[in-house]
Amino acid sequence: MIQVKSLVKTFGPLTVLNGVDLSVSQKEVVVLLGASGSGKSTLLRCLNFLELYDSGEIRLMGSQIVPQKTDLNQVRAEVGMVFQHFNLFPHKTVLENVMEAPVHVKKKKKEEARALALKLLEKVGLKDKADVYPDMLSGGQKQRVAIARALAMEPRIMLFDEPTSALDPELVGEVLQVMKQLASDGMTMVVVTHEMGFAREVADRVAFMHNGQILEQGHPNTFFESPQNERTKQFLQRIL
Ligand code: ADP
Ligand code: MG
Repeated sequence: MIQVKSLVKTFGPLTVLNGVDLSVSQKEVVVLLGASGSGKSTLLRCLNFLELYDSGEIRLMGSQIVPQKTDLNQVRAEVGMVFQHFNLFPHKTVLENVMEAPVHVKKKKKEEARALALKLLEKVGLKDKADVYPDMLSGGQKQRVAIARALAMEPRIMLFDEPTSALDPELVGEVLQVMKQLASDGMTMVVVTHEMGFAREVADRVAFMHNGQILEQGHPNTFFESPQNERTKQFLQRIL
């Protein structure tokens, strides 16, 4: 589903991605770990072309994406993204938030978009909140709406960038539960998170990023029990 080769991204003099190689298969869940500033967010943003990379190659669903020759809105529709801050439209109801992109970007009929949105709100456990405004929701509920909103574009890949980092601890579990369900439904996912329980339980593979490179990756059991790279060991000692 995703094949990244020798990806390089700079911001002015700063090389933020310094030759990233990463492959993700269909239905695979990859958790991306790494210290702050290691390039995790930039990598996710490159994967749905919110950022354009300098060199290297990104293949999605088998096709190489050449930004100059590709309709990037089409790509972004197939690669959903959930951020730390949910950015719901405050003046729209929960249902309207979820219907927005299918109606305005995908040009779906309103009735069809509404039916899909209600189905997705049910999936994230918020069907009863369809008609309230985001202000009325807890952070965990807002993030679940943001997940439903991303799913409303019917993406084939979902990217999560620290989806629970802005939440009070008691609200983290409900969001992870929705992500876990999505994973068991077979969604292909790349997840940046500091939730090691989620990584151990849900990830098929854990990848460790340092200074714009993926230094080590493996099945969670081997990754956590017997990391090989010194940097990985240091990182795990600090967080576990
Ligand atoms: P992470 O998500 O792992 O914390 P980021 O990908 O956000 O790392 O950032 C990696 C590095 O790139 C940091 O040094 C950050 O300051 C820098 N960076 C990220 N986005 C920009 C930008 N738009 N302009 C300049 N520097 C940026
Ligand atoms: Mg980040």
